[in-house]
Amino acid sequence: MMHTRNLILGWLLLLIASLLIGSMAFYLLDKQQDNFAMAAREADRERLAAVAETIHLTVSESRDALATSLRELPGENYIDALENWRLGNPLIRNVFVWRPGPGVIFPDPDRPTSSEERAFLQRYAALFDLSTAWALPAADSPAAPAPVQARRELTELAKSRPLAASSPRPLADEIRTRHRSDWRPWFWEEGLHILIWATDPDQTRFGIELEMAALLSRLVTLLPEPANPQEAWALLDDRGQVVQQRGQLDLSGNPVPALSLPVGPSLPHWQVGLYSRATAASTQQGLWWLGSILTLILVAAILLGGSLLLWQARRNQLDARRKTGFVSNVSHELKTPLTTIRMYAEMLEEQEQLPTDRRRRYLDVIGSEARRLTRLVNNLLDFSRLEQGRKQYHFQEVDLNALLTRTLASHATLQADAPLELSSDLPDTPVRVTTDGDAVEQVLLNLVDNALKYAGDGQELSLRLVADQQQVCIEVADRGPGIAPQQAEKVFDMFQRGDDSLTTRTQGCGLGLSIARQLMRDLGGDLHYHPRTGGGSVFTMTLPGATPSGE
Ligand code: ADP
Repeated sequence: MMHTRNLILGWLLLLIASLLIGSMAFYLLDKQQDNFAMAAREADRERLAAVAETIHLTVSESRDALATSLRELPGENYIDALENWRLGNPLIRNVFVWRPGPGVIFPDPDRPTSSEERAFLQRYAALFDLSTAWALPAADSPAAPAPVQARRELTELAKSRPLAASSPRPLADEIRTRHRSDWRPWFWEEGLHILIWATDPDQTRFGIELEMAALLSRLVTLLPEPANPQEAWALLDDRGQVVQQRGQLDLSGNPVPALSLPVGPSLPHWQVGLYSRATAASTQQGLWWLGSILTLILVAAILLGGSLLLWQARRNQLDARRKTGFVSNVSHELKTPLTTIRMYAEMLEEQEQLPTDRRRRYLDVIGSEARRLTRLVNNLLDFSRLEQGRKQYHFQEVDLNALLTRTLASHATLQADAPLELSSDLPDTPVRVTTDGDAVEQVLLNLVDNALKYAGDGQELSLRLVADQQQVCIEVADRGPGIAPQQAEKVFDMFQRGDDSLTTRTQGCGLGLSIARQLMRDLGGDLHYHPRTGGGSVFTMTLPGATPSGE
């Protein structure tokens, strides 16, 4: 009892420990996940900042290059030079010349030559008629440009000179004093436009409007290649619309990016965005599930392992207890017949003048007790042989009918001693079976012994032999107390005895039936118990079919 309590206590401790480990693992996993997510977000933010910076610098640099080219534009005939430049440089969408007083003089506001010119004039009407100041935007922060191939290309493109080869290039210093250059972003219906212009000493302003489409198509190469197909980088305009994207992700619905940063003053209100279909939350959830499953497996493994260990320990404990019981039972079993034999032998020795019939009875008792001893020792030997798989059988043709008759006859004395009336129902013809006759006899004697031991009060022991070509059945039936249903299969286990008071009073070590069943199974048959109608037990030995008689 103490032992069981210890086992349960140990199991409970194990349970608590594994639950503690499990919850600790959960907690750590959760924390670690937060750390991971934070680190990932930080890394993304840094990448995004670098991209935004690169785009900003590239746009500023190209714009500055265009402004420089503008300042270097040969004087006098700005219009031709500008037009030539526009035709040769895809970054230029429109050109213009503006003078204080008359206002815009090119393109001709009264006769625009194309719808594009008309749209241009309309777009900047507020600027050209001075209702909006040509104010400077906030100065860009000049930073050391990163050596990006795409950036260099774009800057080179911006630097490409106006197509006015004939006119000599003015000296740079002279230009700087003569002209001033400015730029400003201009938001109109369809988004951002950029206007760059120079002002000469006469306050004439001449400049260009950037072709945003050309600029953007080159900026896309500045967006990094996404690390996986679930990711995309995009450039978003002031209205949050995707204008350029890198990556396979479908951004047609203009979803909100996972992370975004402003590009900077060179593209005001524009942003670079990082999109990720496997959002942080879903990745985290996946990790959480994985972690949970792993933790659960860990806890389950600990619990299962622990339970297995405890179960094994309990089994060992029971085994040990059974074996101890077995040893003391065996000792008793050996001691009783030995005592009887010694007692009767002494009586024979001391009383030399005994009447013949008493003498005969004493000798019978000694004989039967010696046989009981032999059976017990045989059982023990069989037990160890069966345990080690060393039991050998000698198969030969046996007449079971004769074997049964002989066995019963050899027990005549025992039957005379016991208050049992023997009835046997045997066929008239021999029942020939190829089997080990000794083993069959041993099983039969075991059953008869048990009937004498446990069903002695039942007055009756009947033996029946039924044979056909498939099977031979030997039934040993008594009118004893029978075996309780919950015990009926257990009594065939090693060291297992019934738990009724009759069994407790009777000597035995719980080996007989388990050995008997094993023997029968080794012979190709089996041994079963059935309660007998009207009370008592029926043990049925079966063996494979009989050889038809007469052969
Ligand atoms: P043992 O007789 O040494 O206890 P066995 O294996 O021969 O061991 O029998 C196991 C148990 O089966 C017995 O302890 C007894 O409780 C029960 N048993 C066996 N034969 C009978 C029977 N004929 N009637 C009632 N109980 C029986």
